[in-house]
Amino acid sequence: MACGSELLSPSPIEQPLAPATACDEKSAKALQFIEEVTKNTDSVQERVLEEIMRQNADTEYLKRFDLNGATDRKSFKSKIPVVTYEDLQPDIQRIANGDRSTIFCAYPISEFLTSSGTSAGERKLMPFIHEELDRRQLLYSLLMPVMNQYVPDLDKGKALHFLFVKAETKTPGGLVARPVLTSYYKSDHFKNRPFDPYNLYTSPNEAILCPDSFQSMYTQMLCGLIMRHQVLRVGAVFASGLLRAIRFLQLNWQQLSHDISTGTLSPKITDPSIRECMAKLLKPDPELAEFINMECSSEDWERIITRIWPNTKYLDVIVTGAMAQYIPTLDYYSGGLPKACTMYGSSECYFGLNLRPISDPSDVSYTIMPNMGYFEFIPHDDSSPLTLSHVEVGKYYELVITTYCGLNRYRVGDILQVTRFHNTAPEFRFVRRKNVLLSIDSDKTDESELQRGIENASVLLKEFNTTVVEYTSYADTKSIPGHYVIYWELMIKNASRPPTNEVLNQCCLAMEESLNSVYRQGRVADNSIGPLEIRVVKNGTFEELMDYAISRGASINQYKVPRCVSFTPIMELLDSRVISVHFSPAAPHWTPERRR
Ligand code: AMP
Repeated sequence: MACGSELLSPSPIEQPLAPATACDEKSAKALQFIEEVTKNTDSVQERVLEEIMRQNADTEYLKRFDLNGATDRKSFKSKIPVVTYEDLQPDIQRIANGDRSTIFCAYPISEFLTSSGTSAGERKLMPFIHEELDRRQLLYSLLMPVMNQYVPDLDKGKALHFLFVKAETKTPGGLVARPVLTSYYKSDHFKNRPFDPYNLYTSPNEAILCPDSFQSMYTQMLCGLIMRHQVLRVGAVFASGLLRAIRFLQLNWQQLSHDISTGTLSPKITDPSIRECMAKLLKPDPELAEFINMECSSEDWERIITRIWPNTKYLDVIVTGAMAQYIPTLDYYSGGLPKACTMYGSSECYFGLNLRPISDPSDVSYTIMPNMGYFEFIPHDDSSPLTLSHVEVGKYYELVITTYCGLNRYRVGDILQVTRFHNTAPEFRFVRRKNVLLSIDSDKTDESELQRGIENASVLLKEFNTTVVEYTSYADTKSIPGHYVIYWELMIKNASRPPTNEVLNQCCLAMEESLNSVYRQGRVADNSIGPLEIRVVKNGTFEELMDYAISRGASINQYKVPRCVSFTPIMELLDSRVISVHFSPAAPHWTPERRR
C-alpha cells in the first residue's frame, strides 16, 4: 500500500487533495464520484430537479401549482412557492393521521423522521421514503475514502464511536416517527452492513440498538476499554455526545473496572441480547482494570482520551455550529487532537461532506453534493433564491431544499457562507441555525420559547407581588451536562415578603415545563442537559448592561436587552451582581408521545 505513515498536518486546508492512500477500488471509485458530480454541479442539479419533478408530478401538492408536467427550472421557480414547515404542517398532519394518498411524494411514506427542530413545541415530522436510504448510504460511503487521504492506516483498527437510538412513537395513522439516526441504525443498511475494514466499531450492534441509554452507553464504554489499543478514532455524532461519554466514564469507571477485572457484567445491564454478546467478549483482565483504576482515580483528567486510547488519531465529532462551544473542553480531554467534522445533513436531506475533514474547526467547510437533492440559496437581502452554482464566495445564504421525499422549496433554517469552490461545487461554512438562542445538545430554543417560559414561571411570583422586569440567558457548558442559565432582575413590590427560595426553584421547573419537547427529552431521557438555573441579579443590573453596551458604541435609541449573552465582560458583570441562585428541583415532564 502506498499509505504514508504520518497523520498529515491538522490544517491541510491549502493542500490539494492527495491521491487516495487506501488503494482499494471502492475508495478510488468514491473519490472519482465526488470529482464527477462536483465538476458537473449544474447539470447534475438540473437532472435531479427533473427527476424529482417527474417522480412527483401527480402528487396533490405539485398539482396545486399547475405545472402541467413541466420539470424545468424556470417553471419550477416561477410556480412553486418557497415554504416553511408551518406552511406544510396541515398536509403533514393528514399523513400522520393516516391519509395514504400521494400528497407530497409518489412513493409511499414509510415513516416520519422527527427533527430536532420544533414547531409548536414538538419535533417537526419529516415524511421519509424507503428509497431515500440508498441515497443517504451513498453519502456515508464517501466519508472514509475522503478521510483516508488525510489519515493513513484507518483499516488497522477500530472506531470507538458512541452511537445511540432514541425512543420512537407511532402517529395516529400508524406510521413510525423517530429521529433520523435511530431510523438508520435500525435499518438493514446499518445492521447488515458488509464487512468494511475502515468502518469497524468497537460497539456491538446489540449495544447501539439498546433503547436504554444507560445500558447502551455502559456497554459501548466497556467495549471501548477492552479494545483500547485497537481504537484509532474516538467519536460521537456531536461534540456534546462525546463529552457525555467522558462524563459517564467519570461516574462509572469503578463499576466498569470491576467488570473488566472479574470478567463479569454489571447486574445493571439487563438487556438479554447485550448480556449474551458480552459473555463472549468479557474475560477477566486484572491488569487492564488496574490501569483504568490508576488513570481514572487521578484528579487530573487532562488528555484522558489519549491516555486511555493511546492510538487515537483524531476525534470524529461535529464541532461546527452550536457545537463550537465544546471545542476547548474537547481539547482539554484529548490534548488537542484533530477534530474531524465529516458531514452536514438533517432529517430532511443529507446535504454534503467535508472534503478536508482534518481542517481546523474554524476552517471547516462542507461541499454540498449536487446529487442529494435540489438546492437553492436565499441571499441575505431576501431576494430571489439562487441555484447551487450561482452562489458567490464570501456571501451568506439561507438553504432551501427540494427532495426526493417530497419537500419542495423548503426552508431548512440554516445560514451558510460560501468559502470556496471545489471544482464547480461551492463549499459552505455552517454559520448558524436561524432563530436559535440557546442550545446545549440537539435542543434549539428560540426567543419566543424563552419568553413564554419566563411568562409561565412569572405566574408563580404573583402571590408575592413580584414581577420579572428584565431577563437574559446563557448556555453554560462549563460542567457536563451543560445547562441553561437565566438571569432575572425582579421587582419586589412588598419588600417584607419577597418570593421564597422554594418558589424561585419552582420557577426554574415551570420554565423547563414550557420549553420544547427536544429540551425536555434531553433533560429526562438522554441526561444531556442539566437542571435549569435562575440567577437573580441586583436591581439596576440591566441598566448597567445597557450603559456598558452604549459605552461600546450601541445607539441608545436602538438598544435592546440581548436575550442571550456569552461575551465574557458581560458575563462577569452579570455574575458579579448575582444575589441568589436557584435550580430546578425535578425533571420536567416528557414522554415520547407528542402533545398534539
Ligand atoms: P436534525 O434534523 O435534527 O438532524 O438536525 C439537522 C440540523 O442540525 C441541521 O439543519 C443543522 O442545523 C444541524 N447540523 C447538522 N449537521 C451539522 C454540521 N455538520 N455542523 C453544524 N450543524 C449541523
